[in-house]
Amino acid sequence: MDGYKPKTWNASRGCKEVSDECAQCYAKQFAERWRGVVGHPYEFGFDFRLAPFKLEEPLTVPSQCTVFVNSMTDLFYGGDEHDPPPELCMPDEYIRDICDVMLKANWHIYIILTKRAERMKNLLNSNDSVFKQASESPHIWWGVSAGRKEKGLPRIQELQKTRASVRCVSFEPLLEDLGELDLHNIGWGKIGGESGNKGPRLMEKNWARSILSQLWKQGRIPRHFKQWGGVDKKKSGREINGREYNEYPDIANELVGRKPPSRSERLKMIDDLRTYVREQWMDHPLLANVPDKMRPIYLDHQGRRVEKKQLPMFDDNESDSEQ
Ligand code: SF4
Repeated sequence: MDGYKPKTWNASRGCKEVSDECAQCYAKQFAERWRGVVGHPYEFGFDFRLAPFKLEEPLTVPSQCTVFVNSMTDLFYGGDEHDPPPELCMPDEYIRDICDVMLKANWHIYIILTKRAERMKNLLNSNDSVFKQASESPHIWWGVSAGRKEKGLPRIQELQKTRASVRCVSFEPLLEDLGELDLHNIGWGKIGGESGNKGPRLMEKNWARSILSQLWKQGRIPRHFKQWGGVDKKKSGREINGREYNEYPDIANELVGRKPPSRSERLKMIDDLRTYVREQWMDHPLLANVPDKMRPIYLDHQGRRVEKKQLPMFDDNESDSEQ
């Protein structure tokens, strides 16, 4: 997206599969590689964990970014019928805090994709002022993944009933022909095939072409063709119909140039957030298994190491995933 740097932001980690669309979940494969490695952020593999010391990240970056929120989990984890009980899943209050940060750091564009569309709908449609504002803000794009008919199409219907300024659908990994789609109220469509070295399921040309064509016919909905996928996704490339598709909702251009507050104002916001995080989240039971080594390195604003319980900062080498 011109004018924006891509970035991922994960203030929580871990999830569970909800359908066979998750069979090659990149985030799970990445996280499980580190299970048992003492001190690594993913020492506990893909078990769900809160990482509240990362809530402040968007406030620390003054340049405009497209922030893919929760590439290593599902923001609405707990919203599927097979998920564990609520006390082991993402708390509503934590999602609210993530929304609050997105509203404060409003010079970025945030992209949220979920496979738990009903929980997203229920929270965004509620009367809570933070969820209401987050749903109505044009710099926060709310979306669902739909790679198969049976589970994916009902998610699109839930999204259509969700209060959101920009609604997007990620047809990725696209695993079958989705047939005729109703795309009213959808503002952006992203298509991609499955990748990875564990026997990725290949996407057929006609499945992808059909969605591209329906997005165009049903209101010139902007289209992004991410990749063909396969074992070597670079080699298979991202051309279809003899071209690349790199379209985004117009609002992305309209928001280019949004300025962050001054550095001192941002530092004040970060300080306030750290105080709140220490009081609210650092003793939460979902952090119970996090050893001290996995706790943040504590730095002050000049980058000097300071006492524990002060100024957490953390870097965990996360990378992009396919939600
Ligand atoms: S693909 Fe998404 S929903 Fe499925 S297990 Fe991975 S993070 Fe969770």
